[in-house]
Amino acid sequence: MPMRPCRVEIRTQAFEENYRFLRSLVAPPTELLAIVKADAYGHSLALCAPAAVRAGAQWLGVTSVEEGIAARALCPEAHVLVIGGVFPGQGAAVIEHGLTVVAWELWQLNELECAARAAGALPASLPVHLEIDTGMSRQGASPHGLEPVLARFAPGSRLRLEGVMTHLFAADEAGGMVTASQLAQLNEAVERIEAAGLYADWLSVGNSAALLAGQEREITALAARHGMKPMLRPGLALYGLVPRFDPTFEENIPPSIAAARQRLRPVLSWKAEVVGVRSVPAGSVVGYNGTFVATEPMRLALVAAGYADGLDRQLGNRFSLLVRGEQAPLVGRISMDQSVLDVTGIPRVEAGDEVVILGTQGTETITAFDYADATGTIPWEVFTRIGPRVRRIAV
Ligand SMILES: *Cc1c(COP(=O)(O)O)cnc(C)c1O
Repeated sequence: MPMRPCRVEIRTQAFEENYRFLRSLVAPPTELLAIVKADAYGHSLALCAPAAVRAGAQWLGVTSVEEGIAARALCPEAHVLVIGGVFPGQGAAVIEHGLTVVAWELWQLNELECAARAAGALPASLPVHLEIDTGMSRQGASPHGLEPVLARFAPGSRLRLEGVMTHLFAADEAGGMVTASQLAQLNEAVERIEAAGLYADWLSVGNSAALLAGQEREITALAARHGMKPMLRPGLALYGLVPRFDPTFEENIPPSIAAARQRLRPVLSWKAEVVGVRSVPAGSVVGYNGTFVATEPMRLALVAAGYADGLDRQLGNRFSLLVRGEQAPLVGRISMDQSVLDVTGIPRVEAGDEVVILGTQGTETITAFDYADATGTIPWEVFTRIGPRVRRIAV
């Protein structure tokens, strides 16, 4: 049955090309883990995880064990890294589905150790990536209190330290002072790990901003110093957006950022349709509480998209969508399931016309940055707020 016309179109080919382009920015043995957490930033894990693997990704990054199980079902061969950690009672599922967990709390390591013993796993058989808090104060073990954590990897443990990871929290800032300090802290942590007689294959550091700003070079150098392989973890860039950088970056744009602006292509378009068009006299009010009053005779188009679809209610009276290749202002409050466009100045709008919320129509484009600027947020939130009832279709 045809469905209500509010849908997200995903260009899986663009996703694959974006991955291959990012890959071309790094040299082996650097690995690019494809971040597909939060349903691939709202782009559909089912469409994007297999596309990442087709493009050559060997590692996928998800938030939770639940997301990991879904990724495993789609991609039997990929390494699936659970970056948000394991929760009590989830250890058995980690083992059953062959997931790799990021851990930093003692209780997480105990959960994994107990589950591995219960499953009859051999010593040093369950890979773990240890996160180090290098200054973000979010997740990760303090580099100064690593001893009890490292003791969990002592001989006889079922756990194997496969990776050491940290998250750069200001890779988009010029000067790299914060990043340099984070990498120095990470270096200290790796030295402590080595002093404890432990060795990890992977040094996992850096998001899209770090990769495009060229910090990959410092990460690679740090990994090489310790005989480790570097892994970067791009998310947003895979979906075709170049993160914004601190304005001082613009004075001397790294070539990788310039190339990314040329080469990365947005993967997602969000579209709806005109349900019907009505003419109203001057003085008519539109939507709940009549926050918009027609100043002249107007033509209004009803659109099948509302805040339950994720269309941000703040956009009412503040943003335009595309119809017939032109900008049509959203008038009145956005309703749960519908919104209204002023199409007075756009000829021939009729029921069934395509409405673009995010994406391109004719020569006009609405980017996730445009939308984010209008709602006071960032593209990451724009994408992940598109509601689950909006179908994701591969095109
Ligand atoms: C989400 C996330 C990323 C990807 O960040 P982008 O800015 O989207 O590239 C990388 N690493 C970790 C730990 C993350 O949580």
